[in-house]
Amino acid sequence: MALNLLMLGPPGAGKGTQAERFARTRGIPKISTGDILRDAVHARTDIGLRAKAIMDRGELVNDEVMIGIVRDRLERDDTADGFVLDGFPRTVAQATALDAIMAVRDSLIIVDIVVPEAELVRRLGTRMICDNCGANAPIGDGTAVCMRCGGRLVQRADDNQAVVIERLKVYHSQSQPLVEYYRVRPTFRQIDGAQPPDKVAADLVAAIESAGAGAVTLAKPGVDRLARGVQP
Ligand code: ADP
Ligand code: ZN
Repeated sequence: MALNLLMLGPPGAGKGTQAERFARTRGIPKISTGDILRDAVHARTDIGLRAKAIMDRGELVNDEVMIGIVRDRLERDDTADGFVLDGFPRTVAQATALDAIMAVRDSLIIVDIVVPEAELVRRLGTRMICDNCGANAPIGDGTAVCMRCGGRLVQRADDNQAVVIERLKVYHSQSQPLVEYYRVRPTFRQIDGAQPPDKVAADLVAAIESAGAGAVTLAKPGVDRLARGVQP
């Protein structure tokens, strides 16, 4: 059975870091809509040019555009064994569209990373990313170069204080309802993101394993027997 993981959580919760780490250990792609949009901005594509101003204000890019991006990306062969989706869905309309896309695939495991608001504001105000490869730098680490590629560390354009506040506001109004949307599913889990990254990573793995049992019972009858057969 494919491991189709969806990471939920506010900006600054550590979704991207955890998604990247988990995807790497499982050998499945991490699909981050924030990264896809930032790449489009750099490449100056049509979507990138339109998205830049929206992202810089901390607002959301329109649902149709985002759904199209994710639909195309999920069609690629490298998602056959699973994927980690980070930053999508961000609205209930996106979640509904994703359910339609996923109707013929193995069920989603949804993990919500919970972090108190004050901690989010602190993290977002001090977060640095690599100018070259986009990696997140550890908070308060004090170095000026990227540990992965040696690139220059800079503050993300949408991490200045006014924009941070706007992004959290947008999260509460547009994205938090997703928690209620998914909460009723047997494959939904919440983990505490206000812990050291290694502990969050361990909790994430445990949450996925326990949710995976729910995913098997959700699968369609024929597929279900097959899935049980290949379970470790
Ligand atoms: P963070 O990691 O802080 O949550 P992201 O890197 O995921 O932020 O996204 C950065 C910006 O890209 C968002 O503030 C938003 O403008 C845009 N964006 C990313 N994903 C989506 C989406 N699914 N729907 C609409 N806008 C999006
Ligand atoms: Zn780098």
